[in-house]
Amino acid sequence: MNPNQVLGEENPFEAMHARFDLAANKLGLDQGLYRILRTPDRELTVAIPIVMDDGSIEVFTGYRVQHSLARGPAKGGIRFDKNVTLDEVRALAAWMTWKCAVVNVPFGGGKGGVVCDPTKLSMGELERITRRYTASILDIIGPDRDVPAPDMGTAPQVMAWIMDTYSMHVRQASTAVVTGKPVGLGGSLGRIEATGRGLMLCTREALKVMELDPAQCTAAVQGAGNVGQVTASYLDGMNIKVQAISDITGALVNEKGLDVKAVREHLARFRTLEGYDEGDRLSNAELLEMPVDILVPAATENVITSRNAENIKAKLLVEGANGPVTAAADRILENNNVFVVPDILANAGGVTVSYFEWVQDRMGYFWGQEEVNERLEGIMVRAFNDVVDMAKRFEVSNRIAAYLLGIDRVAKITKMRGVYA
Ligand code: NAD
Repeated sequence: MNPNQVLGEENPFEAMHARFDLAANKLGLDQGLYRILRTPDRELTVAIPIVMDDGSIEVFTGYRVQHSLARGPAKGGIRFDKNVTLDEVRALAAWMTWKCAVVNVPFGGGKGGVVCDPTKLSMGELERITRRYTASILDIIGPDRDVPAPDMGTAPQVMAWIMDTYSMHVRQASTAVVTGKPVGLGGSLGRIEATGRGLMLCTREALKVMELDPAQCTAAVQGAGNVGQVTASYLDGMNIKVQAISDITGALVNEKGLDVKAVREHLARFRTLEGYDEGDRLSNAELLEMPVDILVPAATENVITSRNAENIKAKLLVEGANGPVTAAADRILENNNVFVVPDILANAGGVTVSYFEWVQDRMGYFWGQEEVNERLEGIMVRAFNDVVDMAKRFEVSNRIAAYLLGIDRVAKITKMRGVYA
């Protein structure tokens, strides 16, 4: 068994399946379709040998999983993290399938990962890993096949290297092979902020449903990466008092509200919250249990489990990370009437603007920031309302409603396409 393998409640693939089974059952999904949609379409594991800066050779492991290609090319990020496992990538790929269907963009679901610690690699090592990984998965990616994007541990520069490696192999500049690229290299305006912007829009819509005034609300954000930082800024911009933000080193807390701009300036300079001296320090576990109105887990999976769900005090949970809540914790949050905006809806702003980027690359014509933001708002608000309506119609949680919506859309298309033999 892989030593990284996680069993039980915290295995993300099992967590995905637990929700999938519940939703499939509610939908009365045909047994054949159930079997098709439960199984990833394709999984590739590659060895990535790299000459390190000191001249030694290391071999890293990389994965790319395409869960479904029914609605279009696979779409999903690439994660560089030391804890990446195949089951995690499988779960993330499936979540991408449902997410793309929830926001109704014409993509299937995929995900990639490389088992490495990007914080311990030089830029040269990072570039060599990215290029070798891209070359190894080259046959299954492409603008009409599978379009990667950033995820934990990868940023626009990594996307630029993927675009360049792919383009060198196909002998033409192919910007649409990957999204989340730097603006100027086929990237879209608004992509960096898109996931956080989508989270802000979901927060705004949820507060309306809950009849809460943003200016009277407090929030805590776990994670100070792309998603966490941008979300904290947008919440601050809505006059919500952001009392805490964290990174892997722990949480920074100020009951009077953090100066989010100053925290971000510190992060831009030092890449860590350590050394920022305004406010108190708590652990990541303590941040989750703070008495705030809004909690945004935006770091990694399995942070809310059956062990701590009972202690969550927030009324509204907006999931920036993928899979931050386990299936066992779902039931506890539901019993405690926590309004959950599930990951496959809440963080779908990123894939939505990735879709815009892919469209713009293929047209060779680029939109202004306002056009991107307006289109994003239209899609996110519609998806939010679709999920809330579905939850009412089927008398289920928002999470299961989002699965119902996504699975139903993918199942209909899969049925229409039929089984090729
Ligand atoms: P990132 O690498 O930019 O930032 C991750 C942040 O989480 C960092 O502050 C890091 O220190 C912190 N962190 C990592 N492990 C942690 C742990 N165990 N406990 C506490 N903090 C930890 O990543 P990101 O792009 O912001 O992605 C964060 C989450 O959002 C991931 O689950 C990712 O799948 C999801 N997501 C990202 C996007 C996107 O557009 N980037 C889109 C949708 C979903």
